[in-house]
Order: sequence, then structure tokens, then C-alpha cells
Amino acid sequence: MNTVNDKNQNASISIECPESIVVEKLKAIYGVDDPRFKVEPSAWKRPLKWSNIIILTILHIAVIVCYVDVCFSLFHLETALFSIIIGAMSGIATSAGSHRLWSHRTFKARWPLKLWLLIFQAITMNGSTLAYARDHRTHHKYSDTEGDPKNPTRGLFYSHIGWWLVKKTDSVKQAGRKLNFSDLYEDRLVFLQHKYYIPIFILFGVIIPMVIPVILWNEDPWLAFSICVVLRIFVILHHLFTVNSLAHFFGYRPYDFRIRPADHRFVNYISFGEGIHNYHHVFPFDYRINDRPQWELFNPPVTFIRVCSLLRLAYDLKIASPAVIKEIVTRRGVQTLYDPIRSLKFRILNAIFDWIIGISTAIWIIYPALIFKLATKSVIYI
Ligand SMILES: [Zn+2]
Ligand SMILES: [Zn+2]
Repeated sequence: MNTVNDKNQNASISIECPESIVVEKLKAIYGVDDPRFKVEPSAWKRPLKWSNIIILTILHIAVIVCYVDVCFSLFHLETALFSIIIGAMSGIATSAGSHRLWSHRTFKARWPLKLWLLIFQAITMNGSTLAYARDHRTHHKYSDTEGDPKNPTRGLFYSHIGWWLVKKTDSVKQAGRKLNFSDLYEDRLVFLQHKYYIPIFILFGVIIPMVIPVILWNEDPWLAFSICVVLRIFVILHHLFTVNSLAHFFGYRPYDFRIRPADHRFVNYISFGEGIHNYHHVFPFDYRINDRPQWELFNPPVTFIRVCSLLRLAYDLKIASPAVIKEIVTRRGVQTLYDPIRSLKFRILNAIFDWIIGISTAIWIIYPALIFKLATKSVIYI
């Protein structure tokens, strides 16, 4: 629940109108410019977290060096495909595991699935699952307030990556202390991944992705490191970060127009189906993170969780009931933005394009190198 809701829990608001009119209504209600976009840059004055600053600076310098090298070098096609596959699996593991399973308990999982999710989540360099779930539960409970670790009221950069560069504020620490994380500490696999996060990351996130291309198809070690470690980590990390930044600034709010989190289609493409963020903040217990028929919307973790459910590795999948969703939309949402009437033909075409655009957008980093190689008439890969 966020501040806006806290202040106005008893307010009875039912509006069916476009976003621009919603903003005007909010201005009338709160007497200020849209409170969802309030920015407090002064809160930036925090002690810096130098360990993260150094790691992220090295990563971003390495990205530039590695990308230039990839543009001028010949690499195996298998190396690029391998990097895309493990990158996608790590993104799905973060979404299905750290987020939907451990942060929100939207389904239950047996230990082989947990092990798989924890290993692939670790290789994203996004911190341990326990730390992720701890921050994320605090983010939901105190969304867009001083208690939110990724507080977007401090600006787009802060909510994207800036919150990693400063020490946690006292408000965030106090907010965290009020929540119960005992289930995370009691989950043995989650705790072990947290305790041995660095060696797990170095083994599965650096050494193995670098060694496999060298051994199996004789790739140059430096190129294997560039493509399968540095560039892969950079892309997945920033894709996941957009859920905290872009999806708290831009997009549509069909389910609750009074909160910042918004449904953002581009974020949905690059964050493995996490971009229907207005829905997610209203129904965080729903494992789908949207209420569309799943074939209609790019959302690989849902397919992954359903396959795991068929294999009996995942069970007790929770969803919000259509009646409750409809009721919430009527009371707090924007009816015209929710489920516009479309023909079946339109929906099928839209779904095909959504999956094609979703997959091709997620691998955007390939395109500049490809254009450079085509422009210079150099060989694209071996
Ligand atoms: Zn959020
Ligand atoms: Zn969440």
C-alpha cells in the first residue's frame, strides 16, 4: 500500500476516463501536481556504497571495451547463441524464482526447481535471492515512500541503479525491520545461496560460461568472457532494473490510477514479462503478473512455471479471480484502459507480434554490432 492510498483509503473514486483526465482528477484530489511523480532529489545525499560503485564502474567500462572488441573480432555463432540462452534462463530464473516464488510466494516449488532457479538467478549479479526478496517485499509494502529501497520519488536514475550506489536510509532499514523474512532464512537452499553467493556467482556466472565455449567449440577465451559474461550480465541487469525505474514512471494504470507503478509494454518485453506493473502492485500474489490469456502476452516465466507445474516441480499456482479484478478496476481503475473490446483476429495478430517483438527487443544489444559489421563489410561470425 502506498502513501497515496494510505492517505485516501476511504476516498470513493470511480472514474472511467483517459490518463490525461485522470491526472487532472488527481491534481484536484491532492491539490498538487500529480503526486505519483513527486521527486525529492535532496534525499540523494546519502553515504556512498563504494563496493557497489567500484563493481558497477568496472562492469560498465568492461562493457565498452568488450563491445568494441566484439565489433572488430570474429566469434563463433554458438557463442552468441549460448550467451542469449543462459541470459534468458537467468532472467526467467530471477522473474520466476526470486520475484514470483520467493518475494511473493505466488506458487510453491520442489527442491530441484528451487536449485535450478537459485543457480541461474545467481549468475545475473543481481545479489542473492534472499537479499532480492527482502528488498522487494519492502518495495511493495512501502512503495514510492521513504521506506521503499528503490524509491522512485528520488528520480529515474535512483530507482534504476542509483539505489545500489548509496547506503540504505534509516527509513528503509526501519521499514525492513517491520517485515517478516523468516521464511527466507528458514529455506535452506535460499540461505545457502545467500551465504555462498560470491563463490556461486564466480563459478556459475563467470568460470562456466567462459569455459564452455572455449572447450566445446574452441572459442577465444577473451571473446567468450566478453560475450557470455560481461555483455550478458550488463544486458540482463539493466533489463531487470527497468521494472523499478521505467515501470514506476511511464505507462498505463488500468487497475489503480492512484499509484505510480504502471503497465509498460517495452518493460514487459525486456524484463521477461514483468512489465504489467500496475496489475502486479495491485495483485502481487498472482503468479502471472497480468490477467490476460497467456498466449496473448509475452511472458516467458508463465510458460516456464506452467511447464514446471506439468512436471510436478511447481504447484499451488495462485491467481486473482476475474470477479475481484473487475471489482477493483471499477472502484480504483480506469475502465477504458482495461480490456478494450477487440476482435479475435486482432488479438491473435497482436499476440504473434507481441512474442516476435518481445524476443527481438530482448536481444537489442546485437543490433549495433551487426550494423557495424554490415557497414564495414566484415565477417559477422565464424
Ligand atoms: Zn514496483
Ligand atoms: Zn513484486
